[in-house]
Amino acid sequence: MPSYQEGSLEGLKRAILSYYPDVNIATIDKAYEFAKKAHEGQKRSSGDPYIIHPTEVAITLAEMRLDIATIITGLLHDTVEDTGVTLETIEKEFGKDVAELVDGVTKLSRITFRTTEEKQAENFRKMLIAMAKDIRVILVKLADRLNNMRTLEHLAPEKQKRISQETLDIYAPLANRLGISWIKIELEDHCLRYLHAEVYEKLAQKVERKKSERDKFIEDFIDLIKEKLEEYEIHAQIAGRAKHFYSIFKKMERRKLDFDQIHDIIAFRIVVENITECYKALGVIHAGFKPVPGRFKDYIAMPKANSYQSLHTTVIGPEGDRIEIQIRTTEMNSVADGGIAAHWRYKEGRFDLRTKDNVEWVHRLLEWHKDLSDPNEFLETVKIDLFEEDVFVFTPNGAVKELTHGSTPLDFAYAVHTDVGNKCTGAKVNGKIVPLKYRLKSGDTVEIITSPTQTPSKDWLKIVKSSRAKAKIRAVIKQQERDQAAELGRELLEKALKPYDITLRALEKSGELLKAAQFHSMRGGIDELMVAVGYGRIYPERVLEQLLPKEKLEAHLESMKPSEEEILKKNINSSKVNDSKNVITVGDQADILIRFGRCCSPLPGDSIIGFITRGRGVTIHTANCQKALDNDQERRVDVQWNKKSLTGGFGRRSVKIRILCHDESGLLAVMSQTITASQVNITSANIRTTKDKKAIALFEIEVNDIAQLARVTAALESKKGVIAVERVKS
Ligand code: MN
Repeated sequence: MPSYQEGSLEGLKRAILSYYPDVNIATIDKAYEFAKKAHEGQKRSSGDPYIIHPTEVAITLAEMRLDIATIITGLLHDTVEDTGVTLETIEKEFGKDVAELVDGVTKLSRITFRTTEEKQAENFRKMLIAMAKDIRVILVKLADRLNNMRTLEHLAPEKQKRISQETLDIYAPLANRLGISWIKIELEDHCLRYLHAEVYEKLAQKVERKKSERDKFIEDFIDLIKEKLEEYEIHAQIAGRAKHFYSIFKKMERRKLDFDQIHDIIAFRIVVENITECYKALGVIHAGFKPVPGRFKDYIAMPKANSYQSLHTTVIGPEGDRIEIQIRTTEMNSVADGGIAAHWRYKEGRFDLRTKDNVEWVHRLLEWHKDLSDPNEFLETVKIDLFEEDVFVFTPNGAVKELTHGSTPLDFAYAVHTDVGNKCTGAKVNGKIVPLKYRLKSGDTVEIITSPTQTPSKDWLKIVKSSRAKAKIRAVIKQQERDQAAELGRELLEKALKPYDITLRALEKSGELLKAAQFHSMRGGIDELMVAVGYGRIYPERVLEQLLPKEKLEAHLESMKPSEEEILKKNINSSKVNDSKNVITVGDQADILIRFGRCCSPLPGDSIIGFITRGRGVTIHTANCQKALDNDQERRVDVQWNKKSLTGGFGRRSVKIRILCHDESGLLAVMSQTITASQVNITSANIRTTKDKKAIALFEIEVNDIAQLARVTAALESKKGVIAVERVKS
């Protein structure tokens, strides 16, 4: 990277003009003056005027050849947070794009990372990107952090350590993921200096002591390689440099080496024209110098996650030292250095080139590298949600949770722990109470309020977004229903046993109850039998048959007064549904308690499904009723209309029809005549007109079955002026 780090407006202008000669430089002057005035009187810890910091950040952004809005944002990035300047003023002076970028950087500055756990660091990085929305916000943040690290010496030691650790955990990896390797390298070396001062000093000395030697060595070795390559007509650009301290440090740690064992502190880079020449050059190198086993890596055939490509090898040099060599094409080299990251191929995030748009966007970025005539052209409009489908929120102690977009505090509670979800009564977001259906945003801090007496409700299923939370809630509700059914089953059996002076407990002890359960093929034993009775799948009387001798049962039935029998029946069958008895077959049982779903009002002939409802027998819905589909499918039973219902023996059922017609006088009379002519009662009628001279009539009618309804519908549709007739379901 060329250096313009003088912190001056002149340096900034020179940096911009070097890649963007047509820039309207007045806007840069204006932004600089604006920032200077805003930060007037403020000083950095070094004692320098504050304006030097934003200017240097802007210079870094210019070195990355970014668009003008981003560079202006670099100049203004601290004004909203640290001075009285408002976003409105920035928008007025510099436009919406800049205002949004400054807003993004300000928001990122307000959240702090509070744990050092690796997994959390990764989530936190994703959160930053999700919050940034525009990748340029991240780039400004990286430039900001780079300048802070460059000037960290002026801060107190604890602060130096804390900021360095955060940089190492968050920002250096972020730069790496975005492929901006020079920022990553520089950040890491600064961090090493503050986190492991001794190591840093020793490495610096070692590199320094050998400097003159090294320069000579580099020169000689380059000549040597060049010569060998020329023999094979490979024209290459070769450069040698000391490896960056942090990578040496990592290697020492990894291989448990001490300073004397560190030899390969110099790395060479060979840049050739095309891929064939890369492999050719590798062959030449390996023929001339002994390769170190296990050190060859082919990142051309298998690029790294951030799309880095190169060949890596280590050889034994002329003086017996290990020498690291990278071989790559010109194109790979520019991608690796990434003036602006040329390749945001984000493996673990959403942004991994899966969608066409992303591919296109990267192509445009790559194109831009070739043609820099107007950098504003596309970056201005590039806005991406890198993690559109995710939202990242904090727990009260600073951990980051990744949730699906649209998640609510309930989803969060279940993500923390199933018990926290189940006991959740409310939530605070950023310290304020919010409704449970509140939609979480990245950066929110969420606190869940629990109560030991709370249990999940069915309504929660409509609130939660994540399938994990849904599954947990369903499981609890299902268990609750089972428990209630088992309890009810017990009660029903106790009641049925009462006249015989036998308790359920006694039968349980004697093993009779278990036998009865086995007789009814209850694999879950007594418990499952109780559930079956509670849900109405097995009548208590059927169970009693297994529990008591036949004589005893018959004797009792005879002694029972008719009125008592009626009371018993009434307990089981609710009176409302007597008229629907014997019209529906459940499984192969006809005599079973049924009711109809009010949601869909099934008519004889409709295709239907049934659901066992605790203590209320079976509820019948039409096969496509949405409410029925939402029910627990485990309680579903096969049901059919029987002959009696289909031959009119069922009685009339109410149904609503909607008629779309032209708004003509007398049409309502025609329609009601048509309906009554089909021997169908009308219980209510309603008509309203629409703007386009049409009318919608709603009739509530009583029919025997679906066939009769079809006849009425056909008759209505044949009338002049009627456009469409449909049955209303809901
Ligand atoms: Mn700053």
